[in-house]
Amino acid sequence: MQERVSGHLARNYVAEIARYHRIQATPQFREAAEYCRERFEEFGIRAEVLGFPAREGTLYWGWPMFQEWEASEGVLHLIDPPEAKKKLADYNEARLSLFQRSAPFQGEAEVVLLEDGEEWAEYEGLDLKGKVALTRGDRDRVHRLAVEKHGAVGIITDVMKELPGLRHPMDLPDALQYTSFWWYGGETKCFGFVLSPKEGARLRALIKQRQREGKPAVRVQATVNSRFSDGEINVVSALIPGQTEEEVVLLAHLCHPQGAANDNASGSATVLEVARTLQALISDGTLAQPRRGIRFLLVPEMLGFAAYLANNESLIPNMIAALNLDMVGENQSLCGSTMTIEQAPGSFANYADDLVVRLVEETSSGATNYTGLEGQTASRYAVTPFSGGSDHCLLIDPSVGVPCPMINQWPDKFYHTSTDTLDKVDPAMLTRVGSIAATYAYFLANAGPEEAVWLAEEVLSRHKTRVLALTRDGLARSTGADHSPEDGEMLFRRVRFLQKRAEKALQSIQRLADVDVSAWQEEALDFAEVELARVAKLVPHSPGKPPAGVWEKEATSIVLRRLWPGPIDPKNFINRMSDEEHETWWRVYRESPEGTYVYPAMLLYWADGQRNVQEISDLIELETGKRVTEMLVTCCRLWQRLGLVELSTAS
Ligand SMILES: [Zn+2]
Repeated sequence: MQERVSGHLARNYVAEIARYHRIQATPQFREAAEYCRERFEEFGIRAEVLGFPAREGTLYWGWPMFQEWEASEGVLHLIDPPEAKKKLADYNEARLSLFQRSAPFQGEAEVVLLEDGEEWAEYEGLDLKGKVALTRGDRDRVHRLAVEKHGAVGIITDVMKELPGLRHPMDLPDALQYTSFWWYGGETKCFGFVLSPKEGARLRALIKQRQREGKPAVRVQATVNSRFSDGEINVVSALIPGQTEEEVVLLAHLCHPQGAANDNASGSATVLEVARTLQALISDGTLAQPRRGIRFLLVPEMLGFAAYLANNESLIPNMIAALNLDMVGENQSLCGSTMTIEQAPGSFANYADDLVVRLVEETSSGATNYTGLEGQTASRYAVTPFSGGSDHCLLIDPSVGVPCPMINQWPDKFYHTSTDTLDKVDPAMLTRVGSIAATYAYFLANAGPEEAVWLAEEVLSRHKTRVLALTRDGLARSTGADHSPEDGEMLFRRVRFLQKRAEKALQSIQRLADVDVSAWQEEALDFAEVELARVAKLVPHSPGKPPAGVWEKEATSIVLRRLWPGPIDPKNFINRMSDEEHETWWRVYRESPEGTYVYPAMLLYWADGQRNVQEISDLIELETGKRVTEMLVTCCRLWQRLGLVELSTAS
């Protein structure tokens, strides 16, 4: 695969795909999808562009849909004071200048500077009616408070999100942050413009100066030509047929703004290049027709994939495994990135992430040590715990049940900005990820008893390594003055959690071939027991009292029953929240915005109609080290009120 996968061809596909403004459910996304379909056909692979209704009120599993959107113009001029007159933003010059899905507007307005506009107190004594808010605050929150509650007609943001340890907003002074509205129905639609940190700083200084000098406010003229309509959201599907109905799926999201290269033209381009390579190898007889089919899916992230799955539920039992490629082409030294292989959550432990890690290791050399005698890795990689936020989180839901690791590059200094461009893409990295993905797909498409045994050994030995890493870390910490016997107990519980993980992961191999995995399972358990017995003599441990706060009490009384497979992001239902619910949600969200991707999803994954929410909270704590009972209970209550889950009282 390494000889045949071409990172240079893949890079060319990145360049082509990046020319399209690939916003979900837009005519330009459809054009990008057509471009990819044509490539598949050119390789000799049958492909189609599928369409699913895009209109408000439609729900694909737990994902609400919006309308199609199209914009032909979006310009913002500073018009007052006249001596400062200039064009601030132009959608036709830079697609990120406009909030995607901005509503049409034509007119002039005063600009009001908000600190971040996220709290009610900031609005006291301010008149925003008919004006534009300049803010770096959270888009949804500012929309709710400034536009819905205080009558602003639009938003200007100069936000540049910080990536801890890698990107400070002032590292990209001229870049624009990718920003979108998502209208799910019933909101007051408005427009938004995006300024670079530098342009934002200038405008802020001007506004403050005018205020100090008691001069009339700064005014802008905004023109947005855009339209919404009931339309389609599109997915590209291509298939190298196998000899059975079963399939291995390679998956990438095709969406994102024009120019966006690593996110995720790189993943889509890699899928194309893998398809080309495999088809060529099969056509020239180097490889046999695979036993299982290999399906290639290019989707609008999350929502578009949910639309595909919800409309193709009958295909799911035949999907034996998948791989999600999300931001894979990074030049690591430019972007500051590390290749990450995301593990499945404990609720769906399976063999597939260990297989990907093996393939990453197999392709890791490239440099040598000083004497040139030993190979060493020329790029970074890390195995990371489940964090969701991309398409694999729809498949690794136990109620969907398709093993799907994700290969990603994170963090990325240019992520979600106008500077995520082709020059940040490294052909060598595309070759590497492409050969990993091609090998993964072809290996699993043909895996039988022999491969299953090999995988069982792989999973077992990696399990042992994980147990040793955990106990080694636990031992090191147990000598600290702040170590408590409860910490010691937690270590024991976490090792037992790993035991269960290994048991399940080994079990999952049976999906590939009818092999008895019980011997490996036993060895996995025994190994951990020996290690626990050793550690028990060294680490003080006792259960302590279980926490019994108000949230724990409530969590113990709730059992959640799901209505659909797949996670539900509470943020997508803000339009249906009452004012009170919105405030409650905002408090939880503000504490840990990223956490609200991960923990609510984990809650749904564990919800089997039997466990109460406190039991699930304990499992999440074992897996992540975080106690998030309040967030979980809040989600349960909110989802129930919105009709997204059913709750019953625990017996
Ligand atoms: Zn993205």
